[in-house]
Amino acid sequence: MSGTAAARFPDIRSALDPLVRLSARLGHDPLLVQASSGNTSIKLDGVLWIKASGKWMADADRQEMFVPVPLAEARERLARHTDLAADSTRAADHATRPAAQTMSASIETFMHAVVPHRVVVHVHSVNAIAWAVRQDAEAELAERLSGLRWQWIPYVPSGRPLASEMEKVASRRADTDVFVLGNHGLVICGPDCNAVEVLLGEVERRLAIVPRRAPVARKALLEQLACISPWRIPQTDALHALGTDATSRRILRGGVLYPCQAIFLGHPAPMIPCSIPVSDVRDGIGGQYAHRPFLIVEGSGVMLSQKITRAEIAVLSGLVEVVQRIGPSAPVRHLTHNEVAGVVSGDGVRYRTSAENNESANGASRECFQSSRWNGEELSR
Ligand SMILES: [Zn+2]
Repeated sequence: MSGTAAARFPDIRSALDPLVRLSARLGHDPLLVQASSGNTSIKLDGVLWIKASGKWMADADRQEMFVPVPLAEARERLARHTDLAADSTRAADHATRPAAQTMSASIETFMHAVVPHRVVVHVHSVNAIAWAVRQDAEAELAERLSGLRWQWIPYVPSGRPLASEMEKVASRRADTDVFVLGNHGLVICGPDCNAVEVLLGEVERRLAIVPRRAPVARKALLEQLACISPWRIPQTDALHALGTDATSRRILRGGVLYPCQAIFLGHPAPMIPCSIPVSDVRDGIGGQYAHRPFLIVEGSGVMLSQKITRAEIAVLSGLVEVVQRIGPSAPVRHLTHNEVAGVVSGDGVRYRTSAENNESANGASRECFQSSRWNGEELSR
């Protein structure tokens, strides 16, 4: 940190430390955060310190990733419908680190700014999303979150639209500290990091769903395909559920469930029947799906592109966890055509590029589900 920053924020490292440690813990839980998704913030002396766009929370305790944004200015810009901060965040940012390391504040900065609570955590909880993609989400959640100060927000795009909706909803009940975002995720707020983590644990406990067990993959057929194509077999058996589980395939055929799915994995879901001749598969793989990170072989399993990135694997793993938690008779609400088009243009593309440029320095492959505090095994007890 530069001398200027030290003068401006003399105790900032110790003040941010609980948020840094909480962010790292959340980032290591693939059932809550995938790749660079999710964001955390704390308000300190009129400054909103928020996770930088594209950074992986799992790296919070080994990389600088919190950007200071003047809180009043962020709120004012939202009210005036002007964009945040290329100038303001950079100005603040330059005060804390060399220009070569400048970072942009999260796309959800406005949302964090309008919530009155000191600490705000936004996660892509697979349990919350499995409820939040249902047409009857609000009623189902009301049963499970009864007694908590929570509110439901139907899908709105990230950034300014979500922040405006959040502001409207929060103004109706200022003590709301749990927001479930339709087709998106979860926001938990509180006076300090400990309170937020405890509340998040309680919400997760109430929303926990035991994932369906999928039939085992047909590895012999997949190995045949791997021999004649650029596709490879995943190291993690869990990914095959998208191909072997009929309910999962039907849900994916219906469209996109949430923005990260469209941004990182594309749409529609790439599927080939397992019954077509191998020679046809080879031709199909060479053309239609060559640019996709994964391929579903119906009834058999999933293949991965040799070029798949860590971010894509993390998001794909999260998708498996979500889809396996949606029951066969659940009334699913997919994103509309216009909503998907909005997601994959502009900010969505920048978000994806940023996530891949910042791929986690974590040595462990994101293909593996490990060290999860709220893992399926635990939930099934
Ligand atoms: Zn999000």
